Amino acid sequence: MRVGGGQIGRMIALAGIPLGFEFRFLEPAEEPPVRGLGEHLASEYDDAMALDRFADGLDVVTYEFENVPVESARRLAERVPVHPHPDVLECAQDRLLEKELFAKLGISTAAFEAVESERELAEALQRLGAPAVAKTRRFGYDGHGQFVLHDAADVPRAWEELRGAPSIVESLVPFTRELSILAVGGRNGERAFYPPVENSHREGILRRSVAPAPGVGDVRDEAESIGERVLDAFGYVGLLAVELFEVEGKLLANEMAPRVHNSGHWTIEGAETSQFENHLRAIAGLTLGSTDTRGESVMLNLIGATPEPDAVLAEPGAHLHLYGKAPRHRRKLGHVTIRAEDAGTAVTVADRVTARLPSDG
Ligand code: AMP
Repeated sequence: MRVGGGQIGRMIALAGIPLGFEFRFLEPAEEPPVRGLGEHLASEYDDAMALDRFADGLDVVTYEFENVPVESARRLAERVPVHPHPDVLECAQDRLLEKELFAKLGISTAAFEAVESERELAEALQRLGAPAVAKTRRFGYDGHGQFVLHDAADVPRAWEELRGAPSIVESLVPFTRELSILAVGGRNGERAFYPPVENSHREGILRRSVAPAPGVGDVRDEAESIGERVLDAFGYVGLLAVELFEVEGKLLANEMAPRVHNSGHWTIEGAETSQFENHLRAIAGLTLGSTDTRGESVMLNLIGATPEPDAVLAEPGAHLHLYGKAPRHRRKLGHVTIRAEDAGTAVTVADRVTARLPSDG
């Protein structure tokens, strides 16, 4: 019932097995993190024959990452319901379409312009002012395909880094912090929202999420309203993440992910119903589960290297998740969620665990 067999596929399957769901994965890797959790069809995502074989007999299809070819999602959707809808996937794959959607829905973003040449980049930078960040419209993730411009002299190098791909350039936002909102849309129009999460990135990769975000009461309604507008725009079914910047108490949308999201991994232990289970409930047409939190959580990503398990497991309230992936520089290999009754304890334990994490080899 899925496309993609990485760690998100793995955690979706782990949430679905108790509900009696069975899974089939379309995933090119021979030994993916989902191995052992269902039937594995080892194929590229754009192999039409494999897609047809994959769809045969399935009740519903979903996907775990947004670079699945839209044409493949549409081909599957001719045979089986695909959630979230391929139109959402198409929008989320293109930073320009995504920002234009936010604008249409009255959701604030950083000022942005589309650019298709070095000259257009220089002109846009002049209008927007430095500093600004240029990003390729497509296939960017974890900070890839981005370049920060401090002045006009950076334009040629930026354009080279972007490899001349159609891009957008946007003002660099002096945010106080980064947040995300996870929203769920059910098949029957039901809606649920997890509390906004505070996210810390380094080198473009999510390192730590704190849930709920401290002092979140002030922006919770605004964050939910952003999530809800996107759900409504598509008649969205499944879990949606919107990444946000908080600037002087106001929220700007940065990007959306039409899937369960790294900033929601804490929900496995830290919420009444995990994001993975709620995604499955949504796409299967079941009642959504409560998004109430169970205490306070901090999630730490394990990037590039993993610790000795006992260095984590000996800590109270710490839960270790390893994805079964070979170590590689900048690769997400697992995560740790620390859950406690109060935020102070969760952060103290998280700091202690962080100090013991091996550096990214
Ligand atoms: P993205 O790929 O758009 O999620 O960007 C990766 C990270 O770069 C974000 O999580 C931010 O930390 C930073 N970033 C991206 N766009 C901006 C912006 N317009 N202003 C400030 N920081 C940004």
